[in-house]
Amino acid sequence: MSETYSKLMKYLDKSTALETALVLFQWDSETLAPEKSMELTAKSIGILSSEYYNSLINEDVKSLLAKLGEEKEQEQLDFNQKAIVKKLRKTYEEMEHIPPEEYQAYQELIAKAPGIWTKAKQEHNYPVFAPYLEEIMDYNKKFAGYRVKEGQNLYDVLLNDYEEGFNTKQLDEFFGKVKSAIVPLLKEVVKKNDRIKKEFNYQSFDTEKQKQFCSFISQYVGFDLSKGVIAESAHPFTTKLHNQDVRITNHFFEDNLESAIFSVIHETGHALYEMNVDSAITLSPVGTGASMGMHESQSRFFENIVGRSKSFWIPIFSKLKDTFPEQLKDITLDSFIKGINKSVPNLIRTDADELTYSLHIIIRYEIEKMIFAGEAKITELPDIWNQKYKEYLGVVPPSDSEGILQDIHWACGNIGYFPSYAIGSAIAAQIYYHMVSIMPFCQYLEEGNLAPIREYLKEHIHKYGATKNTNEILMDMMNEPLNPDYYVRYLTEKYTKLYEFCTVKSSKKK
Ligand SMILES: [Zn+2]
Repeated sequence: MSETYSKLMKYLDKSTALETALVLFQWDSETLAPEKSMELTAKSIGILSSEYYNSLINEDVKSLLAKLGEEKEQEQLDFNQKAIVKKLRKTYEEMEHIPPEEYQAYQELIAKAPGIWTKAKQEHNYPVFAPYLEEIMDYNKKFAGYRVKEGQNLYDVLLNDYEEGFNTKQLDEFFGKVKSAIVPLLKEVVKKNDRIKKEFNYQSFDTEKQKQFCSFISQYVGFDLSKGVIAESAHPFTTKLHNQDVRITNHFFEDNLESAIFSVIHETGHALYEMNVDSAITLSPVGTGASMGMHESQSRFFENIVGRSKSFWIPIFSKLKDTFPEQLKDITLDSFIKGINKSVPNLIRTDADELTYSLHIIIRYEIEKMIFAGEAKITELPDIWNQKYKEYLGVVPPSDSEGILQDIHWACGNIGYFPSYAIGSAIAAQIYYHMVSIMPFCQYLEEGNLAPIREYLKEHIHKYGATKNTNEILMDMMNEPLNPDYYVRYLTEKYTKLYEFCTVKSSKKK
């Protein structure tokens, strides 16, 4: 092994250990820690965070990385080591241009802002949050300005942090296609919407029974309880220490059956990715998903493409009916499938169905772009938001809490993050069409045999972690980079069939 690389390993091991501690603190605070703990625990977290920062951002690491860039050093590195050095250099470049005092001030700002946002949201009071939002946006513009490259605009810098190689030019084209296909399709769907019933979903469902069913379905999809934990939290999420310890959460509502089921399938998709990262890289900076978008592609692939398909439910629908025999006694598999796929434009992104989801993202993308181009003042955002919701989804928020204040992302400083969700859906559709062309995909699902599907994803995506980026993975898998046409085709085919199907008198065919 390269001697220089061995020296770098020492720093990497330390940063991994500190990161592991921080992950555990975060897991604990969202699942078990008592409400009042944070004020005092925050101090330890702050100290560990700055240790983590210092373990990677220092003169020693800087010179080791510079040395590892030399040709004769590069020759000694294997594929994984090269990827680790590359990733580290990227992290380094993101952080090192920011003066430490500005970094500190910004960290304090984004530690405080979510609390202000919560209050503003509760009180339907956007003006309380607006000055913080303005400051967060200003910092992000400034930080992006420190590292903007020729040919990039400031917003491109942030987009590239979440999705390597992506920029506004590509995303404009991507979202343009999606928008021009979905907006008219949705108008048609809305006209026919009373034909799909889903009242069955809103009865009373014992949450203990929901929990048991969700544990079953998560394992059915592939979650391995010997390497994973399922807990509860307000908002479901996935985290991990390494590929032998992957943790997901779920939430339960007595009056909503599908919420917990599809949340757990979604998080299981994320978890499979993390469980399948190769052991050689799991404890390294590339020991995670290739990107935000790629990660979301895996969760959405299982949640929507697999989990909302009829084939998936054929072997297990009777188990759901056995769990809730009273509530579901008159519900057929076909009416269940229609119900869980029904599309209704609504105000809240996290409640959105598959068809309308990307419209919520497009609105956020367009607004972020306007802010960065200086085309929208922070005070004008509620109006811009409401106009766009009316235009694309046909709904108008009764207050800013259901509008501009609904997401926590901006308060946490996550700007340029939203597009990854839509990219994830698009990647999932592209992978789906590829997989049906090379394997009896639906037949596997109908037989309750998900192993070949999981195995394929492991071999072509998961095991590589972040040693390859999104387009490299897609190119190696199917010889084509991200292409939004598949996503448009998927939504068009799915919803045309679903809603036309409903115009015919219900057929009893299997
Ligand atoms: Zn997700």
